[in-house]
Amino acid sequence: MIQFDVFKDGKGFALTMSYDDGSPNDRRLAPLFDQYGIRGTFHLNSNRMLHSTDGSIRPEEVKDVYKNHEVAAHTYHHGWLEKMTDVSVINEVLNDRLELEKACGYIVRGMSYPFGTNNQRVRDLIKSCGIVYSRTANSTNGFDIPNDFLAWHPTCHHNGAPECAKRFLETVKSGWAKGKLLYIWGHAHELTDESDWEMMEELCKSLSNLENVWYATNIEIYDYVTAQRSLHIAADESAVHNPSQIDVWINKDGQTVKIPAGETVIF
Ligand SMILES: [Zn+2]
Repeated sequence: MIQFDVFKDGKGFALTMSYDDGSPNDRRLAPLFDQYGIRGTFHLNSNRMLHSTDGSIRPEEVKDVYKNHEVAAHTYHHGWLEKMTDVSVINEVLNDRLELEKACGYIVRGMSYPFGTNNQRVRDLIKSCGIVYSRTANSTNGFDIPNDFLAWHPTCHHNGAPECAKRFLETVKSGWAKGKLLYIWGHAHELTDESDWEMMEELCKSLSNLENVWYATNIEIYDYVTAQRSLHIAADESAVHNPSQIDVWINKDGQTVKIPAGETVIF
């Protein structure tokens, strides 16, 4: 039997963070993640990045502040997408991508929904704008990988994260229910006083240096899971071909097996 319950390098669990709006506090939060080897995605509004006077992250800082993380879209103006015309939704997403790509220097394919809200029309439109995943604000308190990455529900907001982290760590320690992801989201501007920062540092510390955890950005998880789901598998599961450019690991009869990019493994 083949199961998809292992991540990159055969690790059984994954952790990712997701922070929105390009807050001035990202200048402190991103290095805190770096200190503990934690990785994630920062979803930015280009209008704020280009024109705000509140100390938000500027375009010229993006490459440095987020150097170990992913920069992704959060729309140009941070409006309610489901209330907009089709043309406005497209402009909001494409204009955000255009400015972010200038600032970060790579192709932006990820997004989070302003206010977390969306509907089928919005999901179809952002997909046509080159977006492959988008995060909602519906915390599941669970650790499952989404079926539909355009409605990617996170585990929890960072206010509830200590409890979620505790359950996640117990799951990692027990090691039997693999293929689980802890996805924490929030806004760095919600970290307003030193006690908030202490909570965040304790959280990062408790989740750092775990041997069986893959620390990844949102898009790395999307790309890995998509490659895994795209494997060609023989009807009797005696052969697996990986047509993607990403190495993938599978669980074959309880053994973790690497299926290298572009190769076929015969059992
Ligand atoms: Zn936002």
